[in-house]
Amino acid sequence: MNNPVTTQRHRIVIVGGGAGGLELATRLGHRLWRAQAQVTLVDRNPAHLWKPRLHEVAAGLIGTGDDETNYLAHGCVHGFDFVLGGLTSLDAPAKTITLDAVISPETGAEVLGARTLPYDTLVLALGSRVNDFGIPGVLEYCHMLDSPAQAMRLQRAFLEAAIRVGAERLDRVRVGIVGAGATGVELAAELHHAVHAMERWGGLGAAGKLDITLVDMAARILPAVDPGTSKHAIEVLERLGVNVVLGKGVERVTEDALHLSGGGVVPCEIKVWASGIAGHDVVGTLKGLTLSNGKRIVVDDHLACVGVTDIFAMGDCAAAPSHIGTATAPPTAQAAHQQASYLAKALERRLAGESVEAFRFQPRGTLVSLGEGDAAGEFPALRRDQAVFPAHGLIAKLLYVSLYHMHRVALHGWLRATALFLADRLRRTTLPPVKLH
Ligand SMILES: Cc1cc2nc3c(=O)[nH]c(=O)nc-3n(C[C@H](O)[C@H](O)[C@H](O)COP(=O)(O)OP(=O)(O)OC[C@H]3O[C@@H](n4cnc5c(N)ncnc54)[C@H](O)[C@@H]3O)c2cc1C
Repeated sequence: MNNPVTTQRHRIVIVGGGAGGLELATRLGHRLWRAQAQVTLVDRNPAHLWKPRLHEVAAGLIGTGDDETNYLAHGCVHGFDFVLGGLTSLDAPAKTITLDAVISPETGAEVLGARTLPYDTLVLALGSRVNDFGIPGVLEYCHMLDSPAQAMRLQRAFLEAAIRVGAERLDRVRVGIVGAGATGVELAAELHHAVHAMERWGGLGAAGKLDITLVDMAARILPAVDPGTSKHAIEVLERLGVNVVLGKGVERVTEDALHLSGGGVVPCEIKVWASGIAGHDVVGTLKGLTLSNGKRIVVDDHLACVGVTDIFAMGDCAAAPSHIGTATAPPTAQAAHQQASYLAKALERRLAGESVEAFRFQPRGTLVSLGEGDAAGEFPALRRDQAVFPAHGLIAKLLYVSLYHMHRVALHGWLRATALFLADRLRRTTLPPVKLH
């Protein structure tokens, strides 16, 4: 890792305030506290919602506002500045980035024009988007779960279909989900849970009239985890009545169906695409960066971008060496969290002119929520004769819930995170378990 030229106030700009970027800004803000360096976070949205909760937003189990962290207020308390805007270009030799104009969603008027922001050190933490693989009809007809706004659109579509079924204007709520990775599996289980909660609390009467079909070309669901974990998850889904179609790709999507390779058709009004990820399109326009096949930014084992200086990338947008098994660290909140912790220390040491060890991803296990009171997961094996240490049922669900708590701890500290957890529990005693508006 090269040492930067030190100026009075070194400008560290982090673009993307997601699972990784916001943790990094918070940690650096505390470590450097506006004296050694000026830390600036840039995001195209004014507030953060932890992406692994988006399937719960889509099912109406949580609202977006309740769980958002406002960047301006959070930066005030934690020692960093916030700039609203979307990254549009990079001038690596001049050490500047350009942000697009901010447009009022209400009036369409320009609130702020396009701006140029200088940096001494730049960290790209842009996340990823779902990969549509260029399949016809996907962008036009499918819901995706890349942002709170998309999750809210899916929640509306699902609630409206349930209302229509309740009023006998529609026979059944038919949902087709493409991709049986963690997102697709979790969404299928939560939608089932949500429609029952709607019936109990809103009398919507769609519980026995829900058809969910989960499609994947892989031979089993959750292909990235141990077969035992995958088996537990499919047993739970089948118990919930989810129809799982494996070994079939989707070659076309139309307004009312998924069309499978080999001729099958899955009729469904609500279609969700949750299959694979790719880097955002803007990444392809950032001059000087080296990109992997899926448009992720190639970084070395210090998370420094290959081909430029003083620019780092982390989280889903980075193709970082993993040192174990797979070629790159997985695109998960767990990897983004570890990279944020690493970069917070590494950038501070780099400012002080000290050497920095390489980043090593430490797999801590995988947990997939399977709805109310259930989850499937696995942890690194404790014994040599085990491939993994499995965790199922309520214990796994409690561990799954604790992941979000740990993210909040990283942002707010133990005391505030615990207060937020208790406040959530209390608030839920007065609210229905599912959004009915
Ligand atoms: C439904 C769902 C469930 C998941 N469940 C799990 C799980 O259980 N466990 C797990 O480990 N992982 C899970 N993941 C994956 C996890 O959410 C991601 O790996 C993680 O959020 C990546 O963190 P990140 O910081 O790289 O990006 P993100 O958290 O996606 O944040 C990216 C940020 O960049 C901002 N941004 C994007 N483009 C621009 C731009 N041009 N200019 C300015 N800002 C920009 C975005 O607004 C966003 O705030 C799940 C994902 C989904 C969708």
